[in-house]
Amino acid sequence: MTEKTTNINTALLKAQKDMGPVRKDGKGNYGKYATLDGVIETIADTLNNNGILYMQPLVVINGEQHIKTMLVHADSGDQIESFYRVVCKDMEDPQKIGGAITYGRRYSLLSLLGLAPEDDDGTLASSPQRPVAATPSVKPTADTSTGEVADPDGITSYYNNYEKKMYHQEPCSVAGCGKTVRAKAVSFSNYRFKRTLCMTHQDAADSGQLDDEVPLQQTATDTYGADKEPLPW
Ligand SMILES: [Zn+2]
Repeated sequence: MTEKTTNINTALLKAQKDMGPVRKDGKGNYGKYATLDGVIETIADTLNNNGILYMQPLVVINGEQHIKTMLVHADSGDQIESFYRVVCKDMEDPQKIGGAITYGRRYSLLSLLGLAPEDDDGTLASSPQRPVAATPSVKPTADTSTGEVADPDGITSYYNNYEKKMYHQEPCSVAGCGKTVRAKAVSFSNYRFKRTLCMTHQDAADSGQLDDEVPLQQTATDTYGADKEPLPW
């Protein structure tokens, strides 16, 4: 692997420093929220000015529609991506699907860029981190001005769960390694090697050079690719 002087991380760091606040410019049943247009307005130029382009194609995974959100660094070709399963109560209703897709696109961008929308006065919403699963007592309806659904059932909890998976880290199981492994790699590693290995030790295991007394746990349960809950990547 060659060292790059500029990569998507350095470009993103700069972009995030340059990025203005995301305003809650829409209003729904649960209060104000940031619309997709507003999010794009906040991020697009700053990302592009830092050599990063974003794309959000719809892809089908295990027969289900997902929004793939990609940040691509033009110079290095580096990219970061996330997958978001489109959840909608009525998958036959194009308008509802459209609202769910808009919601997913907005949420994916905010999440991938680590942005939290602010109220108009510039203060963060009462939940200072990421949106928390609401306990809806009212059926969410689309914002009449934008057609966006503020919080369709199930999406927030699904996404919080997804974020937990995405950002969760576990230590490499090789004694003394000390590296942590991101959730996506943990899933893969547990599937392939029956234990959590960092990238270095995955390579070592692949080439039969994993010199470590911890035996492979052949009884570990595979979760990667299992047909339980579809992994969002
Ligand atoms: Zn390791």
